[in-house]
Amino acid sequence: MTKVRVRFAPSPTGALHIGGVRTALYNYLFARHHGGDMLLRIEDTDSNRFVPGAEAYIIESLRWLGIEIDEGVGKGGNYAPYRQSERKDIYLEYVQQLLDAGLAYRAFDTPEQLEAKRNEVKNFQYDASTRLLMQNSLSLPKEEVNRRITAGEAFVVRIKIEPNENITVHDLIRGDVVVNSSILDDKVLWKSADGLPTYHLANIVDDHLMRITHVIRGEEWLPSAPLHVLLYRYLGWADTMPQFAHLPLLLKPEGNGKLSKRDGDKFGFPVFPIEWTDPATGEKSSGYRESGYFPEAVVNFLALLGWNAGTEQEIFSMQELISLFSLEKVSKSGAKFDYEKGKWFNHQYLQMKSDEEIADLFLPILKDKNISADKKVVVKIAGLVKERVNFVSEMWAQSSFFFLAPTAYDEKAVQKRWKAETPALMQELITVLESITDFSAHNTEETVKAWIAKHEYNMGAVMNAFRLSLVGELKGAHLFDITEIIGKSETISRLKKAIEKLT
Ligand code: GLU
Repeated sequence: MTKVRVRFAPSPTGALHIGGVRTALYNYLFARHHGGDMLLRIEDTDSNRFVPGAEAYIIESLRWLGIEIDEGVGKGGNYAPYRQSERKDIYLEYVQQLLDAGLAYRAFDTPEQLEAKRNEVKNFQYDASTRLLMQNSLSLPKEEVNRRITAGEAFVVRIKIEPNENITVHDLIRGDVVVNSSILDDKVLWKSADGLPTYHLANIVDDHLMRITHVIRGEEWLPSAPLHVLLYRYLGWADTMPQFAHLPLLLKPEGNGKLSKRDGDKFGFPVFPIEWTDPATGEKSSGYRESGYFPEAVVNFLALLGWNAGTEQEIFSMQELISLFSLEKVSKSGAKFDYEKGKWFNHQYLQMKSDEEIADLFLPILKDKNISADKKVVVKIAGLVKERVNFVSEMWAQSSFFFLAPTAYDEKAVQKRWKAETPALMQELITVLESITDFSAHNTEETVKAWIAKHEYNMGAVMNAFRLSLVGELKGAHLFDITEIIGKSETISRLKKAIEKLT
């Protein structure tokens, strides 16, 4: 059997959209599942849409997510170069082959002439029904064509599509898709102006030369697939044509229409894997990485947008995804982009990290806040608050009271929980705490509760005022976990401060 070879072939026209990331991921999972190769090819033949920095951005995004490339840009390989702009001469050979075989022709129509035709003929399409009305090597006398070429007139090469033929695209996800050739136009394959092919020709030539076995890409490319099937035939490569698999669209959170960058702005979630700065405008777009996502969570989240293992399982490591992935389980219908679910995945992955790992991620945040804390203590705190957060960045809000004494007290809570008798009660509590030598959570809790029981004090009244003194509000971790971590003298000092400030 031939080795599976797939490619991710982005055009460097800007940041890689999260849908593109999913395409890369599915290619990767498919390749690894079959012990095949994953290629990265940069399709940069459209110089008008080229954006500097986009290629490096794509490579860094894949690296961050753990989508490993075996061959291609940034990696090298037997079929280099993998950047299409560096393969000009290769395409030229096939353009010539198509021209010689009469399967393509030169067209000299200027943009103005094309525009005039579009205005003149309703629903104008450059095809069998109109090509003889145009300025091309099929309509013009041979000498005239030669004259124009010699004079250096700009031309394009168009594919010559015969009308009224049913073209079948065998798609591994959608089954057979049949399209009548009459609806296709004679697409431009090559331009003399820059000596570069268009996407269609370059894509097919490279897939063939690079021995690609499966083309897995977004549904937006399905309309191009019949043309691609024809091109394989025209070039004599029909027998080794790759198999196609067109992935379902990623839909807006509400479910209608394609997910766009604007949805991200509107609902406040990233649509890019890592932060992107538009080189033209300087405008920044947020990324999953900078928003505090773990790459494993993003991978897991994306894997399930259009694919499922057929079980209830939701948490999958990359290794599990590789072993379970199959194109048969990719859905035909669009996948709704559920951002809340993305957060849920991050929460799950955060819980799976060790307290130590979380502490390592939290320490730089603390440092930014000028908090110098002992790592051991931060590890403990991580264990206490991780369940309450989706992101490490949310931990400060859940744990600042461990590091800083309150500077203000929640007014409503004070009104409700700080009564005339409270200061005396807290003063007595201080005496109890002073007598404790083992300040562990367990021992302190027992001692304080025994004291409450002995005097038949109201448990709620004591505990709420105590918490208010330590935290400044009526929230936070288990009270005696707090006292253990901040220690005896800090606990007592906060109580004294509250008595002073609230009385
Ligand atoms: N360059 C195309 C893109 O930007 C590749 C489409 C394909 O995979 O054939 O997505």
